[in-house]
Amino acid sequence: MILASPSIRTSAPPGTLNLDLIRKYAIPGPRYTSYPAATEFTADFDAAAALAAIVADNTRPTPASGATAVRPLSLYVHLPFCESLCWYCGCNTIITRARGAADAYLDDLEREIRLTLVRLDPARPVTQIHLGGGTPTFLTAGQIDRLGTMLRRNFLVSADAEIGAEIDPRHLADDQVAALARFGLNRASLGVQDTDASVQLAIHRVQPHALNVSAAARLRAIGVTSLNLDLIYGLPLQTADSLARTLDDVLALSPERLSLFSYAHVPWLKPAQRIFEDRGQLPGPAQKLALFALAHARLADAGYVDIGLDHFARPGDELARARHTGGLQRNFQGYSTRAGASLYSFGLSAISTTTDTYRQNHKTLDAYRGALVAGRLPVERGLALTDEDKCRRTLVMRIMCERRLDFAALARETGIDVAADYAPELASLSDLVADGIVVLDAQGLRVTELGAPLLRVVAMRFDAHFAPAATARRHALAV
Ligand code: SF4
Repeated sequence: MILASPSIRTSAPPGTLNLDLIRKYAIPGPRYTSYPAATEFTADFDAAAALAAIVADNTRPTPASGATAVRPLSLYVHLPFCESLCWYCGCNTIITRARGAADAYLDDLEREIRLTLVRLDPARPVTQIHLGGGTPTFLTAGQIDRLGTMLRRNFLVSADAEIGAEIDPRHLADDQVAALARFGLNRASLGVQDTDASVQLAIHRVQPHALNVSAAARLRAIGVTSLNLDLIYGLPLQTADSLARTLDDVLALSPERLSLFSYAHVPWLKPAQRIFEDRGQLPGPAQKLALFALAHARLADAGYVDIGLDHFARPGDELARARHTGGLQRNFQGYSTRAGASLYSFGLSAISTTTDTYRQNHKTLDAYRGALVAGRLPVERGLALTDEDKCRRTLVMRIMCERRLDFAALARETGIDVAADYAPELASLSDLVADGIVVLDAQGLRVTELGAPLLRVVAMRFDAHFAPAATARRHALAV
């Protein structure tokens, strides 16, 4: 890794980080898992609007065909239960040990799927399924079987569908692995976070590394061909040495993908995080940035490709290949392949995406279940995109996924004349150009290797909704 000075250098090799530039530009901002960001969703987008959006989406062509081929579906199922709270957690979870809670929740999911299918074209193929949480492996083997049957009975799941789940290695019995095999699992994401025992004690998540090793081996044995491991930097008591040991541990498992998340300290939203402040255990900003630099360098040395934001993949993995073939997309799980599918999400707080809309389900179980019992889709809020939103979404997502705007290609494929229609936005990039973060010429805009950790800072310049002062407490830092 090279730590460059902030002079104009645009041909830096992969793995290059400039910490001065990161310090200068890393302001809080959206992560662009959607555009506009979920903070812009409003309550006037209701269940009736959702049903209309499903009907409209049935007739939208796939971007790849440009014709009238049915648009595929990517299904996400949110399973919110966890046995105990990890104190760093920012997710929407329900802490319980009662497995019966999941039976009632599966009833809810079945109702939600039935209400969706009233309007959904049954010929639309499902090319992706992802189980997220919470802890999907909170479900017993029988409950996993029930969910699999529910999805396959109601949807046309393609034979080559990507089927993935977030796995907690602390809760993965052999009968659950067998049920995941019947489910068709071929992708898995293990929550590791850190393998150091004192860090694990501090975050209230004790997980001996032997559990990670065992989970990885058993999942590979049932046909998981792409294994992702989740890590977090900036956790309490984490040091350069402990993070280096964690990286050694996880790299020995040869995962196809790695996610390196920045710990988001938001105690006003997640009060359990206050304990880290009370105990004085959190690394300071400079130490946290050094941890990021250490991990980034180690992953580059190990041959992983920086996909963007927190995601790394081996060069042969589909995620790394998709970056160069236009198949990469951002959605609410981060970066994903199979761009062009509509995301239909089920469960508490789940967010769905059609070509023209976003919608999010209720976040409390009472409100979610209440809507379903009343026979309504459990939509809490959403957004119908304007034509202007859609143009800006195209620009933001190309920056996030392809790291460039090719003006001629955009005009040809979407009719957007970037130079004419977004002249003020392009002019606003002058500081980023001067610092070597982007290259801008008559052909287009390109984010350089130095700019790679600041992708979303570039995207923010095209965000009509972004106001730094208003968003400081709603979004995390860019790095
Ligand atoms: S297992 Fe995951 S979702 Fe559950 S509390 Fe821990 S971090 Fe949060």
